[in-house]
Amino acid sequence: MIPDDLTRALAAMLGDRLSTGKSDLALHGRSETWHPEMPPDAVAYPETTAEVAEVVRLCAARGVPVIGWGTGTALEGHASAPRGGVTVDFRRMDRVLEVLEEDMLVRVQPGCTRVRLNEELRATGLMFPVDPGADASVGGMASTRASGTTALRYGTMRDHVRGLEVVLADGRAIRTGGVSGGLARKSSAGYDLTSLFVGAEGTLGLITELTLKLHGQPEAVAAAVCAFPDTASAIGCVIDATAMGIVPARCEFVDAATVAILNDLDGAGLPVGPHLLLEFHGSDAGVAEAAERFGAAATDRGGAGYAWATEAEARTRLWDMRHRAYHTILRSRPGSTAVVTDVCVPVSRLGEAIERAAAAVAASPIPGPILGHVGDGNYHAILLVDRDRPEELEEAKRLSDAMVRDAQALGGTATGEHGVGLGKLHHMEAEHGAAWDVMGLVKRALDPEGVMNPGKLVRGN
Ligand SMILES: Cc1cc2nc3c(=O)[nH]c(=O)nc-3n(C[C@H](O)[C@H](O)[C@H](O)COP(=O)(O)OP(=O)(O)OC[C@H]3O[C@@H](n4cnc5c(N)ncnc54)[C@H](O)[C@@H]3O)c2cc1C
Repeated sequence: MIPDDLTRALAAMLGDRLSTGKSDLALHGRSETWHPEMPPDAVAYPETTAEVAEVVRLCAARGVPVIGWGTGTALEGHASAPRGGVTVDFRRMDRVLEVLEEDMLVRVQPGCTRVRLNEELRATGLMFPVDPGADASVGGMASTRASGTTALRYGTMRDHVRGLEVVLADGRAIRTGGVSGGLARKSSAGYDLTSLFVGAEGTLGLITELTLKLHGQPEAVAAAVCAFPDTASAIGCVIDATAMGIVPARCEFVDAATVAILNDLDGAGLPVGPHLLLEFHGSDAGVAEAAERFGAAATDRGGAGYAWATEAEARTRLWDMRHRAYHTILRSRPGSTAVVTDVCVPVSRLGEAIERAAAAVAASPIPGPILGHVGDGNYHAILLVDRDRPEELEEAKRLSDAMVRDAQALGGTATGEHGVGLGKLHHMEAEHGAAWDVMGLVKRALDPEGVMNPGKLVRGN
């Protein structure tokens, strides 16, 4: 419970934009995966940076946790409130503030979602390409250093955040990337604080404004699908194509189990077996050339049924199906929840990593379809567990931990894009060694009372 005087002070400032309703608290304690519900004591809906700063100041003075909330789609219990406190929901700070067309930049508030940002950009000929599937907020995406299906061609949030406005634990609002907000293409002026806050999961401060890099909308887009005899051939094809200089905008792997589910529940109509789903961006001629050359690389690796098309309808059908895949997989086992793995390894080791993961899942009693952004070396096993059978959750965590250890031994990481939150915390020491202690030092320097999203990302937080 938070102190009454804090509730009164917050209510005096925010009025009905402070919520203590039971269902709202429950909603802000929930996760999209297996993590138990951990609700805050109150939810604040600020409209300005000054209000965010005041919320933080009031909470910090009383040692009360403050947790940022974008759209709550993070998968490792990131935005839950294990120690209670006040969740700051950014949905009312969602404006596109300024599009700098010639500089290909946009200044935007953190609660704006990526889909709405792209809707607002449509007429300019520009786009924001980072696509984690879910319609996440740009503040949440920066805070998890998200990526998704388009990272191979365009990069991750790390490559797209030029500058930030951040409210620190002491209530100060600072700008990273210089006081102008990171408008210059490059800068050698001091520590890169922008990078420090990108991926900090709200443990160092709350992001109240972002300057993001944009790209031109492609003149032409083609989508392609190809079946492969096995995982190794599919990954081998991606490696060959990369060596040939073909960089698809999206390059997604789905294993046979995933295809079977998409056929049953989403009418995919694909032959059951591993597939690559691809998209190419460029000029009409460039897209046609890349699609044809990728097809030749696929044939060399035993690929079958390779087909590509530029019609918007076919593309939309394919990527809508891919974006729905997580929830379709959940529906394949009614009443289930999931432990979602997110390891990322050097692409040269990806085939063996996926094969070992698939063998471990096959030897276990729980289903675990595998899909992923294989051009980046990143795959996800969706380990489906019955909510009422704790032994299944334990088995899924065992499988997930084994995949992480395997990835780390291959030179990879526990999490390519989802982040640490609560669920990957126990892998951070092995992943970072002494550098994890340094993260703790940074945390304590910026948040000595430990009020910013406590319990996540660093040791003893
Ligand atoms: C179906 C599905 C598919 C997904 N696929 C992908 C994928 O392909 N790639 C990928 O990267 N992710 C994926 N995700 C995970 C998720 O969408 C991302 O982690 C996303 O970046 C979270 O954004 P959000 O707005 O929902 O943030 P939230 O979940 O609300 O918050 C995430 C973290 O950021 C903090 N935070 C939020 N806003 C702020 C702020 N303004 N300032 C400081 N901290 C803040 C929160 O406290 C929390 O720690 C997927 C999720 C789902 C449900």
